[in-house]
Amino acid sequence: MASKRSNVWKYFDQVSECGVECKLCQMKLVYHKSTSSMLNHLKLKHKTFSLEPESERHEQPLITSFTSARRHCDPARRERITALITRMITKRHATTELR
Ligand SMILES: [Zn+2]
Repeated sequence: MASKRSNVWKYFDQVSECGVECKLCQMKLVYHKSTSSMLNHLKLKHKTFSLEPESERHEQPLITSFTSARRHCDPARRERITALITRMITKRHATTELR
């Protein structure tokens, strides 16, 4: 039973033998002995969730999570900001890779 205590269970209820329900949007998912589909659902549908940084320590926030929060920007400006952020991240990433 202890193995069930993954953090994703904060966001899901088990509703049947092989079914779980998302507490955030009540969507039902098939549960096949692994929490990966639930994790995927949380990532895709609820970008704001946070889990313990186990295997995903290197994951960076999506560019879209920055740009979508800036709806008031005009498209040209938004594109420029996106490009700048992308360049910044790529550059930094490349530097760390080299070490
Ligand atoms: Zn959901």
